[in-house]
Amino acid sequence: MTKKSPGLDKSGENQSNMDRIVSAARKSWHEREKGYREQSLKLHPWICARCGREFTRENLHLLTVHHRDHNHDYNPSDGSNWENLCLYCHDNEHSRYLDHSEGGGAEVGDEKKESATFKPFAGLKDLLKTKDE
Ligand SMILES: [Zn+2]
Ligand SMILES: [Zn+2]
Repeated sequence: MTKKSPGLDKSGENQSNMDRIVSAARKSWHEREKGYREQSLKLHPWICARCGREFTRENLHLLTVHHRDHNHDYNPSDGSNWENLCLYCHDNEHSRYLDHSEGGGAEVGDEKKESATFKPFAGLKDLLKTKDE
């Protein structure tokens, strides 16, 4: 009684091929994400662009890279589409964006213009600075 049939071996092979493809895709996505994060951390200071919180090697994992135009596939090497944001501000930024688009406004262009000059959390920088010192 041999349970090992050629057919079984074949399907097992297919399965691992699939796994390989999936993990390869996952890996390349991961590497891409890691790639732009590292680049952005090289290009920009380790400071949250919204609240001004400063980061060190110890808490650098709390500093994330945000895509200004919310397009994760747009990664110009000059870093113009990246912004270093702390987890909180990053979250904030995305819920703000969702609020806007769900609010029924089709004026995405206007929103972009606004966010380029309008910095709602600029004052927080000073608040956190004094707390630090
Ligand atoms: Zn922040
Ligand atoms: Zn983001």
